[in-house]
Amino acid sequence: MAELVKDPVCAMDVDPENAAAQSEHNGAKYYFCSPGCKTDFDADPEKYLSPDYVPESMGMGDEPTKRWWEFWK
Ligand SMILES: [Zn+2]
Repeated sequence: MAELVKDPVCAMDVDPENAAAQSEHNGAKYYFCSPGCKTDFDADPEKYLSPDYVPESMGMGDEPTKRWWEFWK
């Protein structure tokens, strides 16, 4: 089985051999789960490669993160 790589846009694990899309940036190859992620990446690669970028799948939209105790109310 091929080694999985991370889709830099949505942080999904992608199999490079079966990636829906791929792109090259600064000599490195990036693989994507869908053509839409590649489009987003190509539009602004630096944004997605920045350590400050948080993939959307990691958060819950625009809702602020709740403290753990708030889940019990
Ligand atoms: Zn993706």
